[in-house]
Amino acid sequence: MATSKLLLTFAICRLIVTVGLTLDPTELLLLGVDGQLSVDPSDVETASLDFGLLTRAAPPLAVLHPASAQDIAQLIKAAYGSDFGFTVSARGHGHSINGQAQTANGVVVQMSGSKRGSGRKPPQPRVWPREKYVDVWGGELWIDVLRSSLEYGLAPKSWTDYLYLSVGGTLSNAGISGQAFNHGPQISNVHELDVVTGKGELLTCSEEQNSELFHAVLGGLGQFGIITRARISLEPAPQRVRWIRVLYSNFSAFTRDQEYLISLHGEAGSQKFDYVEGFVIADEGLINNWRSSFFSPRNPVKISSLEPNGGVLYCLEITKNYHESTASTIDKEVELLLKRLDFIPATVFTTDLLYVDFLDRVHKAELKLRSKGLWEVPHPWLNLFVPKSKIGDFDKGVFKGILGNKTSGPILIYPMNKHKWDCRSSVVTPDEDVFYLVALLRSALDNGEETHSLEYLTNQNRQILKFCDDAGINVKQYLPHYTTHEEWMDHFGNNWDRFYQMKMEFDPRHILASGQQIFTPTFRSSSKMVASW
Ligand code: FAD
Repeated sequence: MATSKLLLTFAICRLIVTVGLTLDPTELLLLGVDGQLSVDPSDVETASLDFGLLTRAAPPLAVLHPASAQDIAQLIKAAYGSDFGFTVSARGHGHSINGQAQTANGVVVQMSGSKRGSGRKPPQPRVWPREKYVDVWGGELWIDVLRSSLEYGLAPKSWTDYLYLSVGGTLSNAGISGQAFNHGPQISNVHELDVVTGKGELLTCSEEQNSELFHAVLGGLGQFGIITRARISLEPAPQRVRWIRVLYSNFSAFTRDQEYLISLHGEAGSQKFDYVEGFVIADEGLINNWRSSFFSPRNPVKISSLEPNGGVLYCLEITKNYHESTASTIDKEVELLLKRLDFIPATVFTTDLLYVDFLDRVHKAELKLRSKGLWEVPHPWLNLFVPKSKIGDFDKGVFKGILGNKTSGPILIYPMNKHKWDCRSSVVTPDEDVFYLVALLRSALDNGEETHSLEYLTNQNRQILKFCDDAGINVKQYLPHYTTHEEWMDHFGNNWDRFYQMKMEFDPRHILASGQQIFTPTFRSSSKMVASW
């Protein structure tokens, strides 16, 4: 204990020397948090890395494992109130790509996995079965939200494809998967939040209470406050899932069917699918890509036998949830819906599994990749929202053009209905009723093959963005990554002024989530404030 205090004092003194601050080291030590303020080298190392493995920030000064929202409020109050200040970044599960949860020479608040050790711990999920919602800690992983809700036969409605992400992390972006066409993104399924703002105030916010903060925080890239509690909407949990994949060689037929399926959002449950996604198959080896081994290895699909158009096939992925009590009607319902689609005949691949196993499908792929040493590799991912009117141009220029039949990872493509997104939230989407997510989820490998290298894939991402610019395809980045003021202003477009105004109101010293590189902290370097936007 004494050693760790010594280390902490040393680390704080290092900060003071490095950045010329005159923060009294005891200020942090005296915070008296119930959790743990750590300078343990493994904590500090973890906090300076993320899933992307593309950036390594200078190490943070310390890592706070909070026991409560009050711990976080005390820390931020100290940062805000001190003459010279320091940055504070929430880190959920660290599954960002470009250092968004890192902060050099500040304090990282480790929101997820902070239940270790002794002493007080963040609250457990609390399900309200009658009201059909669950209150969860901001660092809770979605897999644990699912497990807790299932104890009451309930489950959240809107998901991400992968559940080992934190609630605060996905709500700071949007949280999307194949249910979004129907229920909207995860940020459209939240009733209430507790947030610690950049001034250290702990506020409850909702549609009715502190509504500006509520909308700003949802999709707000961690800029306005740290989410410590979220109240998430629930529905009766389905028991099983019929999971179907069908193939297309014609891109127009593929997108027409996807758009038709998402237009059924207002229909009764029996008249629509519950999940609509899809992916691009530009490389035969990837038909069984890491996202799941679905197509039977004993019955491999030969891409060449399906006459792909321009070397590319498209796979529509749909599911229907059901209860054992309705199992007798599921075949008929699926058959009727499939009859209306225009896929290549005899390319229907079906499987049936428990709802939990469907939701947790990517974790199984993770375990396989981990066992082969292919999980902890650089991930130059690029996620784009593409307006519906330009998705054909995108196909020609990118899937059949720039990618050149080599993908190096899954490429998802699925449409969403814009009206299911609340335009008061901070997230930015294209200005059309329907837009697509195109997710290029590629892994870089150091195996001597040029097309697998980080440099090659990073260049290709740049080429894709330039192609969109040149072709007038107004894409918006999802999980955006920019490094200049101009790029951020361009990203937010007409919403920039509001975003900036909210920042000035809720985090005027620009203490929070500096890893997003949107605002520069306005700390005093000598006697005057450093200018920033
Ligand atoms: P972190 O990386 O820890 O943090 C992300 C940002 O949020 C940082 O700026 C951080 O400061 C801020 N933040 C974190 N916690 C809080 C909080 N409590 N309050 C305020 N700000 C906070 N996204 C989808 O939408 N759909 C998917 O299907 C999907 N699948 C994915 C699969 C994998 C394998 C991976 C690696 C990512 C996937 N993502 C998906 C992206 C994911 O949603 C984002 O990367 C998300 O930020 C990760 O959550 P995290 O808890 O790891 O966040």
